[in-house]
Amino acid sequence: MTRLPVGRSLLAVALGVSWQHRLLRHHVVPAAWRRQCFGAGSKAEDSSPVTPLLKHLMFKIKSTGPITVAEYMREVLTNPVRGYYMHHDMLGEKGDFVTSPEISQIFGELIGIWYVSEWMATGKPKTLQLVELGPGRGTLTDDILRVFNQLGSLLNKCDISIHLVEVSPKLSEIQALTLTGGKIQSELDVTSPVYMKGISKAGIPIFWYRELQDVPQGTSFYLAHEFFDALPIHKFQRTEQGWREVLIDINPKAPDQLCFVLAPSATPATEYFIQGKEARDHVEVCPDAGILIQRLACRIQEDGGAALIADYGHNGNKTDTFRSFRSHKLHDVLIAPGTADLTADVDFSYLQTMTQGRVATLGPLKQQEFLKNMGIDVRLQVLLQNSSDTAMHKHLLQSYDMLMNPKKMGDRFNFFALLPHQRLARSDQKVNLQHTKSLSAPVAGFGELVWK
Ligand code: SAH
Repeated sequence: MTRLPVGRSLLAVALGVSWQHRLLRHHVVPAAWRRQCFGAGSKAEDSSPVTPLLKHLMFKIKSTGPITVAEYMREVLTNPVRGYYMHHDMLGEKGDFVTSPEISQIFGELIGIWYVSEWMATGKPKTLQLVELGPGRGTLTDDILRVFNQLGSLLNKCDISIHLVEVSPKLSEIQALTLTGGKIQSELDVTSPVYMKGISKAGIPIFWYRELQDVPQGTSFYLAHEFFDALPIHKFQRTEQGWREVLIDINPKAPDQLCFVLAPSATPATEYFIQGKEARDHVEVCPDAGILIQRLACRIQEDGGAALIADYGHNGNKTDTFRSFRSHKLHDVLIAPGTADLTADVDFSYLQTMTQGRVATLGPLKQQEFLKNMGIDVRLQVLLQNSSDTAMHKHLLQSYDMLMNPKKMGDRFNFFALLPHQRLARSDQKVNLQHTKSLSAPVAGFGELVWK
């Protein structure tokens, strides 16, 4: 399997500065500018192919007026006909970005160990539903299943099933190939929310759904890697007249281009999403992420299990993080919609608030700390010792550097967990997988994992 030493986080670090400057210019927008366009399509060299999605969005704007950034993002990424995620594989060298599981198998293996350790720490429930949100190519689940297979003696009495929440027909096809070798059955029962099912190479049943609500209740372990950053955000700007939502309109100076404008007055969204004590001048809010977290929190509160969320993000202190990637380069968010990825940093403090105290949360913890606690150094040494191939050694060391280096993915990516409250009671010991009945063992990754 080719794992590539390129990550979208790295590109953001490398290229983000100039992009940030361009948008920061608009952080304080005078009242007279409110209907004036800003933020896109201003450079003469910008090519502006009129994509089918652009035509669709322009029609919409002409009919009902400027749209929110959230509506733009939803349409661009997941419009069933033309959405960016729907019909092509954007991951990897030939695509637009590469993620940690695609960089190194070690990443998925350590996540697999996390799930086994949490399953054991919660008293080895008889069933284990692994639910992945936005599984990409299926690589992460594949690596996790390899760990489950290797730890078969621990898990042999457990009824394991895999549940994938994926909107993209193209990516679900690739996931099926990765995980089942192509042995799938398309669900013909129109009343079932399962749109495809298959059996993993090791005989574990796999089900595909479009939404989390469709996944059956029961003890479940949830995973979302680079998923929350793809959910639609609303953007708000502080002005002298108060907070205004940032909208997207047709550029009056270039009628085949879009531009940002500010809503002429406060809207219910402004009132609802901006806290009175807000100190920033620009705020991004992702209500879809809030709803999803509430659903996860309710499920974990009722049925047990855990959720692990890994993404780039912040704790409610960043401002303008909305960006686009095409062919591993930053791209203008408003140019050629549907041909490039759109993403925004995850606000972990908002996620924590939206759990409404139903579950305990851990993190956000930097990726390099999480992986170190999970034993990445030991795993790397084992793989290096098991191979005498120089190219393999080089690859292992390069991918380790990509995941762990603070200037690459190490500091930029964060791990965040939701757990039942009882799981965290008295968590002041090292994790010991031999003492699995205790719910009070510390949580691997967020504390040191002791694997005996
Ligand atoms: N987790 C993978 C892929 C990340 S890309 C990895 O880290 O490699 C984002 C994934 O989320 C893709 O699989 C995309 O199709 C899926 N996705 C995006 N928006 C979604 C939505 N609203 N519902 C379900 N899946 C979504």
